[in-house]
Amino acid sequence: MKKHNFSAGPCILPQEVLKQASEAVLNFDNLDLSLIEISHRSKNFVSVMDEAISLVKELLQLPEGYSPMFLQGGASLEFLMVPYNLMKQGGKAAYLETGVWAKKARQEAEAMGEVVVVGNSADKNYSYIPKGYTIPSDVDYFHCTSNNTIYGTQIKAFPKVDTLNVCDMSSDIFSRQIDFTQFDLIYAGAQKNMGPAGTTLVVVKDEILGKTGRQIPTMLDYTTHISKESMFNTPPVFAVYVSMLTLRWLKENGGISWIENINNQKAQLLYSEIDRNPLFTGTAEVEDRSNMNACFLLNDEAGKDKFEAMLKEGGINGLNGHRSVGGYRASMYNALPLESVQALVDIMREFERQS
Ligand SMILES: *Cc1c(COP(=O)(O)O)cnc(C)c1O
Repeated sequence: MKKHNFSAGPCILPQEVLKQASEAVLNFDNLDLSLIEISHRSKNFVSVMDEAISLVKELLQLPEGYSPMFLQGGASLEFLMVPYNLMKQGGKAAYLETGVWAKKARQEAEAMGEVVVVGNSADKNYSYIPKGYTIPSDVDYFHCTSNNTIYGTQIKAFPKVDTLNVCDMSSDIFSRQIDFTQFDLIYAGAQKNMGPAGTTLVVVKDEILGKTGRQIPTMLDYTTHISKESMFNTPPVFAVYVSMLTLRWLKENGGISWIENINNQKAQLLYSEIDRNPLFTGTAEVEDRSNMNACFLLNDEAGKDKFEAMLKEGGINGLNGHRSVGGYRASMYNALPLESVQALVDIMREFERQS
C-alpha cells in the first residue's frame, strides 16, 4: 500500500499522474519512443509545453498580458533573476522577511542594490507574519513569500502594493483562490505543489520588463524565455510534462476552487487535533497558520520513540520537522488526500489514549 506522504518537497503527486508519467517514459503518445528521448522541438513535446502554459493561464485566471515560463535553477535562481530584471541601476527594493527562503531572496537582491526590509519575523523564529508595515513608495518592487514552508505560516491577506508586486509562491501556488492579477511577477519551484523537481514556474506581466537599464545576461533575462516560449535552450522535458499532467488533473477535477475546499478540510482536521490533544503544541501563530505545512511539537520528548514507531507502523512518511524548528511538519499539498490526514490524526489520538 502507498504510504501517507507528508514530505515537504519534493512531495506527493497524484497517483494517476505518476502512472501516466511512467507510461510516457516508456512509450510517449504511442510514438514507440520515450518522452525523454525525443527532441524538445518535436511537435509532440511542443504541444506539452503549450498545454502547460495554457493550463497555468486558465487555472490562475490570467488575462492577456501575462507570460508563464517554465525555467530551471529552482526558486533559488529566481531570487537573483527578480532583482536582475526589475531593480533599476541604483534602484531599491522592499522585502518582507518571513523565513529563510525570504531571507535568501533578500540577500540576493542586496548584492544588486539597496534593500529595505519592511517587516521581519526572525525575532520569533519566523513563527508569525508581520503586519501593519509600510512599503516605501520609491522602491522598484516589493517581494514577499506567500507560504513559509519551513515554519508553517502563510500570508492570508496580501498587502496593497503601489509598486511592482512580486511573490514567491513555491509552496502554495494552485492551492487557494486569490486574485493573481494583483501580482506582477510570481514564481514557484515545481516540486512543492505542481510537479517533480527540475523546473520553476514564473509568471510575469509583460509590460514590467525591459525597464531597468541593466545589461542582463541572456539566460537570466525573462524576455529571452518569453520570446522563445520556454524553449530558448533545452527545457527539462520530464519535469514540464509531469507538471502539465498535474495541472490537467487539477483542472479536470474542478480547478483551484475544488482543491481549496479540500485543503481547508485537511488543515482544519489536523489543526483541531493539534489544539485539542494535550500532548502536542502548534508552533506557528494561530492566525497565520499555513494550510500547506502544519508544524507542531511533542510536549514531552520522552514519548518521541513511541510516537515515531506508531507513525512508522501507520505508514506515515516525511513528518520530520525542519531542523530549524524541530518536532513535526505535516505538509498537506494538493495531492495529499484527506484520508492521509485522517490517518495521522487517528495515530495522534491513539498515542494520547496509550499515554
Ligand atoms: C523550497 C522553497 C524554495 C527553494 O526552492 P528551490 O527550487 O529548491 O530553489 C524557495 N522558496 C520557498 C517558499 C520554498 O518553499
